[in-house]
Amino acid sequence: MWTEVRIIIINKRIPGGPQTILGPAGCGPDVAILEADAGATIVTLDERDDRLPLLLDSLKPYDKDWSERRRDRFTEEELESARLLVMRYVFPDGRIFTGPRMGTTYDMSHACKRCGAGARQTSALIIEGEHLALLEDRRAAATCYNDMLVDEKLAAALAQSGATGLELRGVFAAFENRGHFQLPWRQLCATHTLPPMSPRTTGIELSQPCPCGRGCFARLDKAPTRLAYRASDVADIRDVNVTWEWYGYSKFNGDVHDAVLPYPLFLVTPKVFRIFRDAGVTGFDWIPIHVVDE
Ligand SMILES: [Zn+2]
Repeated sequence: MWTEVRIIIINKRIPGGPQTILGPAGCGPDVAILEADAGATIVTLDERDDRLPLLLDSLKPYDKDWSERRRDRFTEEELESARLLVMRYVFPDGRIFTGPRMGTTYDMSHACKRCGAGARQTSALIIEGEHLALLEDRRAAATCYNDMLVDEKLAAALAQSGATGLELRGVFAAFENRGHFQLPWRQLCATHTLPPMSPRTTGIELSQPCPCGRGCFARLDKAPTRLAYRASDVADIRDVNVTWEWYGYSKFNGDVHDAVLPYPLFLVTPKVFRIFRDAGVTGFDWIPIHVVDE
């Protein structure tokens, strides 16, 4: 594992251009890419690279003119030997809208009355028809609320693999005035919820705290996501699981129809990861959990 640091610099905000900072820090074209259209320069470094402290030091005076993102990168062997992997879609093309406001229905009887964490989907998934192009040339994707979508062939491969904890649902596209059309896609659902994670988890924050303790969490940009579970928490896992914690943003006043619901993260075993990998699926980050003592 190594930690990748991406520094995104807004070119025009640096007097004399980003070269005045990159040059002295020794960051050449091997690590710095000029995105002329976006007016930005992206520097990608290993966290242990000696050039990183030099670069961060020279960026200090330009407080809001650059940003920093950190994520862990793994070898194939590390992914293969993980207990569980967080399955995170990186939205390479854009976000597919869905949720209660598209007509998908939810049972809220066991959900938190304040944030909606624990909502149970009771219908097929209905996505915005206008966003269908985002599924073209893909075999798997996720909606803006982390609903996992797989094409029919991949859904069949998952079902045939005997992966546990897996439930597949239909997916429909909704078009204004033209009704709903079933798509050759399936929604991948988890029947098993993990216990609460270990407090040794890092890289996430409670962005919208709710008294239920389940929501709402958000991923930090500046620190890699490192979910930690005690060995006893993962003794009884399935191949497909969701977190007890819910993420995202919540807007729920008791009426689910116009609610914005948070969502759990998907954690899968390497068996599921291999099926996605062998199908040539792209657009996902796979992040091993950390198994800890407490
Ligand atoms: Zn809550």
